[in-house]
Amino acid sequence: MNIGIIGAGIAGLTAALRLTKAGHQVTLYEGAPFLGGQASTFDVGGGRLEKGYHHLFTSDVDIINLIEELGLTDKLAWIDSSVGIFHGGKIYDFITPKDLIKFKPLSLFSRIRLGLITLYLRRYKNWRSLEKYTASEWIRKYAGAGAYNVVWGPLLRGKFGSYFDKVGMPWLWGKMHTRLASRGTGLKGMQGEKLGYPMGSFAEIFEELEKKITHAGGRINLSTSVRDILIEDGEAKGVLIRGVDGKDFAEYHDKILSTTPSYIFDKLVPELPDHYSYKLKNVDYLSAILVILVLKRPFTNKYWLNIADRSIPFVGLIEQTNFVSPELYGGNNILYISNYLDESNPLFHFSEKDLLEEYIPHLKKINPLFDKSWIEDWYYHKVSAAQPIIGKNYSERIPEHRTPVKDLYLANTTQIYPEDRGTNYSVRMGNLVADLILDDVDRNA
Ligand SMILES: Cc1cc2nc3c(=O)[nH]c(=O)nc-3n(C[C@H](O)[C@H](O)[C@H](O)COP(=O)(O)OP(=O)(O)OC[C@H]3O[C@@H](n4cnc5c(N)ncnc54)[C@H](O)[C@@H]3O)c2cc1C
Repeated sequence: MNIGIIGAGIAGLTAALRLTKAGHQVTLYEGAPFLGGQASTFDVGGGRLEKGYHHLFTSDVDIINLIEELGLTDKLAWIDSSVGIFHGGKIYDFITPKDLIKFKPLSLFSRIRLGLITLYLRRYKNWRSLEKYTASEWIRKYAGAGAYNVVWGPLLRGKFGSYFDKVGMPWLWGKMHTRLASRGTGLKGMQGEKLGYPMGSFAEIFEELEKKITHAGGRINLSTSVRDILIEDGEAKGVLIRGVDGKDFAEYHDKILSTTPSYIFDKLVPELPDHYSYKLKNVDYLSAILVILVLKRPFTNKYWLNIADRSIPFVGLIEQTNFVSPELYGGNNILYISNYLDESNPLFHFSEKDLLEEYIPHLKKINPLFDKSWIEDWYYHKVSAAQPIIGKNYSERIPEHRTPVKDLYLANTTQIYPEDRGTNYSVRMGNLVADLILDDVDRNA
């Protein structure tokens, strides 16, 4: 079979690996001039760094298995992480139940309640029963107003902006399961959290996937945006792409898999029936806006700092060099200033320089010693479709991987549920959709 795949992020590459290994002729089309989509990297200080911070949890078994299959297990380091929360002008450790007990901004009663709720969610399996709540509703009801006002409310507002009260409770449930599975209790012998990182960056995984796919006869076309998916008599037949001469031309396939965001897919296939198109249009996305500072000295002693203070216009500080060595980046310290925004937020439209200037006074609130002169260099990245907003009762509205158009498949982050999107789940989805395609090939053989 001749199979076309749109998008060379981790989902498209994983599906391509499976399908080439099964003996099919696969062609990947990627609009960007690089592999890896949302997990792609750029060069800094002689090393490679993700445009948006990336790590793995110990529960990320699908990508851990892929890394093993690619022969890269030796590169996957499991590193102690450090997590804090900034509240009321102070940084608190916020990783183990012991840290929670010491978290003074909450009353003792609220701390105990939040601790019990956290443990409960970590063990709780029946996420379907949570679907009828938004995360805001559920936390207020079960963890109480204290935990909501001090911890979860500011974090939800920071992460989801005007959508803070729309996000379904399974999102929070998924976070508890993935993140907390990587954590100990803070008691003796069960310290902190281990997070995974492929030394040399996530690009190591993408390059190895590329090698294996091309070795098995697959083709990967970078800088090749698909402009249209060609449908004849209700069946997918090919893709329309723009050649180097600026003219569009068609390439034909027996089956086509798109890993593009839903709003792009909807435009590529205007023939989709309303009931399916409705599901695509029904999910909003936020973009990730990242300012990355290359600093002469460390900013904090935390890898991950949640900002639970909504007078500060960003949601998190991720200090990569409190996770891996500054030596990887020429001895520099790397600090991500992270935000998730949509077009309704004025910060979304700020110029790169203006955004940096906007942030600097707020950095001083967190580390009063910080001075602009610490900044050696800085970068700005905008990652579109970074975070789908998954609302209540979402299981009824997930678009199917097999679309209503014959021989046309979709695999994107809006189909990851109940967990939050992440590279692990895109690998799982890439494997799953490749299996669906192989089943359909067998059935029609
Ligand atoms: C700031 C940030 C931090 C994150 N942190 C983590 C983390 O710590 N751990 C983790 O596991 N995950 C993390 N993630 C999530 C993870 O990066 C994504 O879930 C995953 O990379 C999605 O992969 P994908 O292949 O499904 O989609 P994408 O990576 O979005 O791939 C889709 C591809 O399709 C291409 N495309 C779109 N339209 C067209 C077209 N018309 N023609 C051709 N190509 C097209 C795009 O260019 C893109 O390369 C993070 C994401 C962000 C933004």
